[in-house]
Amino acid sequence: MVVKTTVPNLFERSCPGANSGAFTAAPAGPAPAELLGKDADLLSDVPPPLPDLGELEVVRHYTHLARRNYSIDGEFYPLGSCTMKYNPRINEWAAAREELANLHPLAPPAAAQGALRLMYELRCYLQEISGLAEVSLVPAAGAHGELTALKTIVGYYRARGEKRTQVLTPDSSHGTNPASCTVCGRSALPVKSRPDGTIDLDDLAAKVTAETAALMITNPNTLGLFEKNIQAAAKILHDHSAQLYLDGANMNAILGIARPGDFGADAMHFNLHKTFSTPHGGGGPGAGPVAVAAHLAPFLPVPQVVEKDGRYALDFDRPHSVGMMRSFAGQFGVLVRAWCYIRALGPAGLKRASETAVLNANYLAAALRELLPLPYDSGCMHEFVLSAQRHGASDRGLAGKIAKRLLDYGMHAPTVYFPLIVPEALMIEPTETESLATLDEFIAAMRAILQELQADPTALDHAPHHLPVARVDEVAAARNPVLKWTD
Ligand SMILES: *Cc1c(COP(=O)(O)O)cnc(C)c1O
Repeated sequence: MVVKTTVPNLFERSCPGANSGAFTAAPAGPAPAELLGKDADLLSDVPPPLPDLGELEVVRHYTHLARRNYSIDGEFYPLGSCTMKYNPRINEWAAAREELANLHPLAPPAAAQGALRLMYELRCYLQEISGLAEVSLVPAAGAHGELTALKTIVGYYRARGEKRTQVLTPDSSHGTNPASCTVCGRSALPVKSRPDGTIDLDDLAAKVTAETAALMITNPNTLGLFEKNIQAAAKILHDHSAQLYLDGANMNAILGIARPGDFGADAMHFNLHKTFSTPHGGGGPGAGPVAVAAHLAPFLPVPQVVEKDGRYALDFDRPHSVGMMRSFAGQFGVLVRAWCYIRALGPAGLKRASETAVLNANYLAAALRELLPLPYDSGCMHEFVLSAQRHGASDRGLAGKIAKRLLDYGMHAPTVYFPLIVPEALMIEPTETESLATLDEFIAAMRAILQELQADPTALDHAPHHLPVARVDEVAAARNPVLKWTD
């Protein structure tokens, strides 16, 4: 690891006598010895070796450290496959309200009518958006939604006396899809993509058998392309009584424009933290509600939030249910944010968010395809994938170098080396919240970086040049993680 500048820590900054004591008067109250009572002999005779600094210096130290963090609140984040990144503040305000944040998950339904109503309404909104019959809010993330839906599908087949051991996944699919199949005790079989990046229907037809439980497909897919033949794919599956499963991680490209239930999906998951506002940079929490068609609904997990005569309740009495998939009824704080976001935007606003996400991506794609190859170039949805492989093998590693150099321009890197079917992939997703000026700045940065490279083929080899940490040894970090602090 190359560390270019280090910030002295508070102990190194300590200067005897620097703390005037103006703000450190001991609070009124009992003395420590009094508090300890009979254990007063545990008190140390010498004061702790704390650094000697003024309050202002401590505040500045931490403020400077905080500024070194990269965040969506400060800078542009073109990371692909993460969908929305900026989350409107009002949703945070709502989720933090004491009445909601402090509600105990075991509160009796009579004392939690407002929370249950919010959940029930969200369930109905997601049913309408998906075009499917019933939604379960239980799953805790996208991958957990996949597993929950697969279990639901397995429950459905079990009731029909079938096992169905295989699940098909396109070769462009997200890694969680085959992983969920494996966790569910099913084997994942890849289906090829066509040269235009969409699913190969001939390969699909050749691989669907009486053992196929489902095809798991993302639409728009991970290349940012809408699968135009999705209805034909659905027919191939339905002709074999297999299910079409939609990975809904990219739903924010089609809200109010296309509904999975209308294009043939039998089941899907939402990633509320990707489409309906919840900060997910730190890896969670998220929520992955599952929507299913009527024939799968009886097999959804418990509890289900229900309404009867204006009263809301959690229904555990569902004899065909796959059972509980986690503790309690769902990731409540995330559900609050999603409810709030949907209510704030309304149907027209959600559609406009999707349209703007798609417009912003196409604006960037149109400019950047002049600079680098765009292998799947048929009009993108919310994201697109450039290839930094311009001249064959000599460009090996270039996607990573461009990504590193972008950091010097004060921008986060795109997703790199995913999806696997694009060599030297740079997956770019600007989202609906970025302004034209920001998009133009990003284009200008990419143009400048490629000009540097043109002038000197080694120009990017040691980028970034202006950050405290330049290149980390990713292989060593993965192979020899240091999990214990040693001096
Ligand atoms: C993010 C993502 C997932 C997994 O969702 P998590 O909430 O991270 O578990 C699945 N599929 C696609 C296409 C994704 O982008």
